[in-house]
Amino acid sequence: MKTKKVCFASVDVERNIENLNKILATFEKYKIPVTLFVTGKILKQQPELFKKLERDYEIACHGFSHRFWDNLNFEERKKELENFVNFYQKIFSKKPKGFRAPSHIIDYDGMKLLEDWGFLYDSSVVPHYPPFKKYRGYKGRRPLFPYYPQGKKILEIPVSGQLLGIPLAGAWISRLPFWFYNFLFKIYTPPFLTLNMHSWDALGRTTFQFLKKLEKLLKLLKNKGYLFLTGEQIYDLLSKNR
Ligand SMILES: [Zn+2]
Repeated sequence: MKTKKVCFASVDVERNIENLNKILATFEKYKIPVTLFVTGKILKQQPELFKKLERDYEIACHGFSHRFWDNLNFEERKKELENFVNFYQKIFSKKPKGFRAPSHIIDYDGMKLLEDWGFLYDSSVVPHYPPFKKYRGYKGRRPLFPYYPQGKKILEIPVSGQLLGIPLAGAWISRLPFWFYNFLFKIYTPPFLTLNMHSWDALGRTTFQFLKKLEKLLKLLKNKGYLFLTGEQIYDLLSKNR
């Protein structure tokens, strides 16, 4: 992790999965590994699809129902994880390793609960939000690269963006022109980045343009020397060197 720049690509899978295959095909074209953060509800609706995807992708947890954790008490959060983990084990015969909180809302107690349920990493914290956006999530220490939060065994893989926290995220990729990202990467190539989107990003008429832009971005990241790793690969790498 010291010498190479790392990019963690992920797709949050909830509600609508119409565009998932198209998005994954774009990553596949460049042999880029991806982590899918899937809700328990979607897993339950499409177990066969995710059993197939599990051969090529890491399937991680995005909560059971996608309810936001700042609205849930301890018991309700526990139930969310319990339902997810039980169902996950039933279809994949193993435990999920990674978690991403719906709407990125996680706190210290939430991380403790994740540890109790055997999760090895969390990828929820947005360490550097664009100044004009409000963030309701975790407000602890915010490094821009993977770290162990104080007193925790669980690894935090933060959702880190480009300069000024401009995210490499679906909605932003849709809205910002490619030349803008190109310009940002001319100024600075961060040692660690996340590229994340939703299964429902760019549905409808904008799908084609979105996928073209995504492809350009993937080419750019490859040209800049980024190594793409899944969440569990990042965890393995860092836990070995710990
Ligand atoms: Zn979500």
